[in-house]
Amino acid sequence: MCSVDVDFDRSLEISWRTDSALRRLHQPNHESNKAAGFISLSALSSTLACNAKKLLRQRLAEVRTKTFIPLKTQKTMISELAEDLIRDYRTNGMRSIGDLEARWEKHLKPFFGERRAGEVDGSLVTKYINDRQEEGAANATINRELAALKRMFTLGKRAKKVAAIPFIPMLKENNRRKGFLRSKEHDALATATAKVGLWLRAMFELGCTFGWRKAEMLGLKVKQIDLLAGTIRLEPGTTKNGEGREVSMTLPLKVLLTQCCLKKAPEDPVFTREDKSPVRDFRKTWEKVCCEVGLGERVCPTCYPELQKQTLDADGQCSACERKWKRQQLKYVGLLVHDLRRTAARNLRNSGTAEEVIMEIGGWKTPSVFKRYAIVDQTDIRTAMTRLEVKQERDRAEAAVQEQAENLGTAKQFGHSLGTAAPKTVQVAPRASAPTAPTAPVN
Ligand SMILES: [Zn+2]
Repeated sequence: MCSVDVDFDRSLEISWRTDSALRRLHQPNHESNKAAGFISLSALSSTLACNAKKLLRQRLAEVRTKTFIPLKTQKTMISELAEDLIRDYRTNGMRSIGDLEARWEKHLKPFFGERRAGEVDGSLVTKYINDRQEEGAANATINRELAALKRMFTLGKRAKKVAAIPFIPMLKENNRRKGFLRSKEHDALATATAKVGLWLRAMFELGCTFGWRKAEMLGLKVKQIDLLAGTIRLEPGTTKNGEGREVSMTLPLKVLLTQCCLKKAPEDPVFTREDKSPVRDFRKTWEKVCCEVGLGERVCPTCYPELQKQTLDADGQCSACERKWKRQQLKYVGLLVHDLRRTAARNLRNSGTAEEVIMEIGGWKTPSVFKRYAIVDQTDIRTAMTRLEVKQERDRAEAAVQEQAENLGTAKQFGHSLGTAAPKTVQVAPRASAPTAPTAPVN
């Protein structure tokens, strides 16, 4: 029974030796055994034999089922695995080494540092997750920590320091991309901006159609909009990259801007408040509207983002640090006007518009800068079915916009035609059913 190779493990070897000694013990009267002094051990032998045989049988079974863990491996500490991971980061020049070290020192080490690798299993990790959530850590933060732990085990396994990688569950993250509007959010924000005024509704639509910068939109004058031709022109020198551009309007935009330009002189600003004063800074209004529709929130300036679960009561008191804040002291976290640029880039790309054309429309001068804005994800690879869905949504949105416009002002359908020679004409790719080409008859 002891014919296996035993050189891989000392404990197995000991068992084997014990067993061979035991075999001799069973023949206590054999001459050689007598000489070796085994006879005197006979009283002790029965328990010893039993234990040793059991151990040997267990070891052999472990070897056979590949669950055998050498003693050295059983003793590996998590802190040793962490050191290896940090060294690995350093060797490979990983820029996130600072984050890793902070995650280890602040959170993982206090919980796992004194434990052996073999102790870590799903339930222990779950306990860690619960502790961290009670501290107010966001799921995304906890996931980064768990990922580091997993990586420690992966490296440990490779270095034969751990026998297996335990199951480490990951949490669901709220991965709505920052600064990017989905169709439902667009609709909600459209309704909320319309409540503030025509100017904000129109500026919002302009922002997420062409991705223009806030200053470019605010500086827009009535003479730059040619309602007959259905175009908007930005003069050279008024844009950030200094070049002029001209774009064709979509139908919702045309309806809204027609309202904005009503009864105004060519030199008047397009965006004016109820009292006809030009809109300058509207950051506060914007933040308020975004908070209303859940695209932004006010947070404690000291606790955020370390404690993302802190809440503020009606008096502005933070649930985490218990400090009372005045409204204007609170930090705004959420969608910015500039983020509409991202939405525009993505929508235009999804509509099949060529990259050069999108860059021209939004005024992105270099592809590298543009690429930071144009979000591409799996869902962007659209199938014919999603194309159909978008078209249907667009139709619905247009109907809603028209309805809003009719409610907002006296919808007299006449426009200004002050268009002059354009520096460059950019045609927006036809989106759904909107007749964007100036030559196309509007039905
Ligand atoms: Zn606080």
